[in-house]
Amino acid sequence: MTPKTLHSVGERKLIQMLTATRGSGAGVLVGPGDDAAVVRPRKGRDLALKCDAIVEGVHFFPATAPQWIGHKAVARVLSDFAAIGATPRHLLISLAAPASTPVQRIRAIYRGIHKIADAHSVSVVGGETVRASQLALHVFGAGDVPRGGVLKRSGAKPGDIIMVTGALGGSLAGRHLRFLPRVEQGRWLAEKKWATAAVDLSDGLSTDLSHLITASGVGADVLASEVPIAAAAEKLRDGKSPIEHALKDGEDFELLFTVPRAKVESFATAWMRRFDLAVSPIGFITREKGVVRLINDDHSVQNITFNAYEHFSH
Ligand SMILES: [Mg+2]
Repeated sequence: MTPKTLHSVGERKLIQMLTATRGSGAGVLVGPGDDAAVVRPRKGRDLALKCDAIVEGVHFFPATAPQWIGHKAVARVLSDFAAIGATPRHLLISLAAPASTPVQRIRAIYRGIHKIADAHSVSVVGGETVRASQLALHVFGAGDVPRGGVLKRSGAKPGDIIMVTGALGGSLAGRHLRFLPRVEQGRWLAEKKWATAAVDLSDGLSTDLSHLITASGVGADVLASEVPIAAAAEKLRDGKSPIEHALKDGEDFELLFTVPRAKVESFATAWMRRFDLAVSPIGFITREKGVVRLINDDHSVQNITFNAYEHFSH
């Protein structure tokens, strides 16, 4: 028997299949099945909005396990909510796919979507399917922050300590699909007002840190010996050093944030009490506007502003 494809099932039946088992979440007045979703915003909170897309051949490949495609599409959006200290609440998902796509593959993608959405109590309130020449998932997320309590890129001050969660580099070996967005950590950083600025690491440490210091009108010194390097980056034998991978590889999806020097010890104690996740001080904010410098173990200094992976540049 030939496997069922999108073409043979049809769009209406497919949407029914994908949403049939979904209950409505908190605050959802109209969920999937009507013309548009309706949710009730929470009192005293500001709305946070984000959209993102992942495309076959760029963010995943035909051989990628479909559950992880769904996971990644949602996790990327949740990671951006984490970076601003927001609580994600609702998602809309648009699927673009060739008519020849096996229905099994689509169902598995949605299993991945629903699993991570459930893990963060986020409800999928709607979506759309469209025929396209290439498989792609477009995710739109809505969430909220306490009124006036958003964590931005622009608040870093000279002297602040730069912190990073987890370990960096070599995500292409698998972590870029399976990473866990640091939603709890981001929300806690904003709520407890530990951080002065934050960003999630999507484009690589040197690029994302460059964004943060540009927004804040400051500079940064990073100590090479303090950058936590992922085991995957240590194992790569491609001519680049592990620290280069940690600085330049994209899609770590860890949080990078700044904490005032006077608060750093109490911050570290509170963090360790709260989370089972490494956090490392990797350097400090300087007055050298727009300049990120790497201080090597031999005290040599390199300018590493904006030299990591960027879309469309190669
Ligand atoms: Mg981001």
